This record gives sequence, structure tokens and C-alpha cells, in this order.
Amino acid sequence: MAIRKKSVPMAEKPCTINCPKCGHANETRGARTIQVEMRPVLTKEVFAFPDALAEVSSLQCVACAYWICLDYRIELDDNPEIDLNPE
Ligand SMILES: [Zn+2]
Repeated sequence: MAIRKKSVPMAEKPCTINCPKCGHANETRGARTIQVEMRPVLTKEVFAFPDALAEVSSLQCVACAYWICLDYRIELDDNPEIDLNPE
């Protein structure tokens, strides 16, 4: 039985966010949430890790087109097919 970590909801967005590149105050109403499938790179030490889905809330600065990451959350696969002790 896989142990599932609790997922943490995204924080409340502030009304405006200053661009880290040019300092322009952007309204966060135009923020987009995109989903990204994460496939971890396995190593000898970390040889098993479930697939995960990340949700990234991002906003493009209207002044300089820089992409600002507002928040993100990562959801792990409920039923990872991991067999740690194959026969
Ligand atoms: Zn900017």
C-alpha cells in the first residue's frame, strides 16, 4: 500500500505582483494554471519515484513579457507501480 502525502492547496493570490525583472506591477487576474507531467530522473540511489503532476500558476509580465511563477503544487500518482522487491 503506497503512502500518500497530503497535497497542499495553492495559496491565495495577491491582487498584483511586481515583475522580478522590470518591477512592473501586474494584475494576477490574468494568471494561467498549466499542468506539467513530471517524470523524475532515476538514479542508483533514488531508483523509484511515482509519476507526478505539477500545476503551475504563472503570469506573463505585460511590460517585458517575463514569465512569473506565482505558485505551484505537485500531485503524486496514487497508485505508483513500483515493485521494490521483485521475485
Ligand atoms: Zn516585467
